[in-house]
Amino acid sequence: MAGGGTFKALMLRQSDGKVTGAIEDVAPESLPAGEVTVAVSHSSLNYKDGLVLQGLGNLARTYPHVPGIDLAGTVESSEAPGFRKGDPVVLTGYFVGERHWGGYAQKARVKADWLVPLPPGLDAKRAMAIGTAGFTAMQAILALEEHGMTPDRGEVLVTGAAGGLGSVAVAILAKLGYRVAASTGRADQHDYLKSLGAQAIVKREELATPSGRPLDKERFAAAIDSVGGETLASVLRQTMYGCSVAACGLAGGNALPTTVLPFILRAVNLLGIDSVQCPMARRRRIWDRLASDLPHDKLDATVEVVPLSGIAAYGPRILKGQVRGRVVVDTAA
Ligand code: NDP
Repeated sequence: MAGGGTFKALMLRQSDGKVTGAIEDVAPESLPAGEVTVAVSHSSLNYKDGLVLQGLGNLARTYPHVPGIDLAGTVESSEAPGFRKGDPVVLTGYFVGERHWGGYAQKARVKADWLVPLPPGLDAKRAMAIGTAGFTAMQAILALEEHGMTPDRGEVLVTGAAGGLGSVAVAILAKLGYRVAASTGRADQHDYLKSLGAQAIVKREELATPSGRPLDKERFAAAIDSVGGETLASVLRQTMYGCSVAACGLAGGNALPTTVLPFILRAVNLLGIDSVQCPMARRRRIWDRLASDLPHDKLDATVEVVPLSGIAAYGPRILKGQVRGRVVVDTAA
């Protein structure tokens, strides 16, 4: 923590249409209004953070802005009955780090309704090793389970598998007993994906190239897609009768060049996954599942820890698909 009651924050400023970031000493009076002040020990890097750090996607609407779409730490002070000083908490979504002050700072002040008490078994660092990407992976698994996904139905595909969301999805599915096919564009990450529990590797180009047919041979009993575009269209063409695909991301594009045939001839379900406005009761359930179902040793193997002062440099890298697994931000370092 900086001296004189101030604390460190990565502050983005906009000048001549260009967004730049620097670590600044910030006075507590600069914190936004809110019921709970959190001493943030950890945040993380997600694809959306890459966009915000680069000033892209119109996600941050005003500057100066503190980025970081998730955070974990302990309650420093609270005006809300549900939280007391010292409570460990985690926050993802609610446009934190986009429209609101984010997690790349040693303190945040937020609405009590946005906070989830950290479940037993998770500390702040582990919670941010999971972060928004891992939370979304579990959210997708829950949605697929609710639509009939079981290990005996067949192989489950994860696309963008070496990324954050993909890595956590592969590790959890493997622990739950699924046969996981991991799709990646990085040949040097095959061993990493196998170490997380993937049993088969699907090359990115296999899915990114249109087949020219409205339906292909049925292969996958479920899929978690971080990529969108031609990849998601290919996945839909290869999904087995009555099975489901969770659409989570757009790392490969936001188009969906498909036909209705997977839906009307194979009864395929396309499940939309949004972590930002996920209802609170479901959020708590997802965090409980993460505490119980995520193999922590596997999660630890996906994690790189960087200091607050080093995170801005990761913005361009995650947008180019060059980050493996999860990056945790240590705000004290
Ligand atoms: P990462 O960058 O860590 O992972 C994305 C992965 O997608 C990359 O690692 C790469 O995997 C693959 N990829 C990247 N570029 C391309 C491309 N051009 N074509 C095909 N594949 C590509 O990001 P996150 O895991 O943080 O997020 C993944 C996606 O999910 C993002 O689009 C993000 O916005 C979205 N997301 C959505 C949420 C929601 O609420 N719906 C919440 C969290 C994330 P590989 O090298 O293995 O091929």
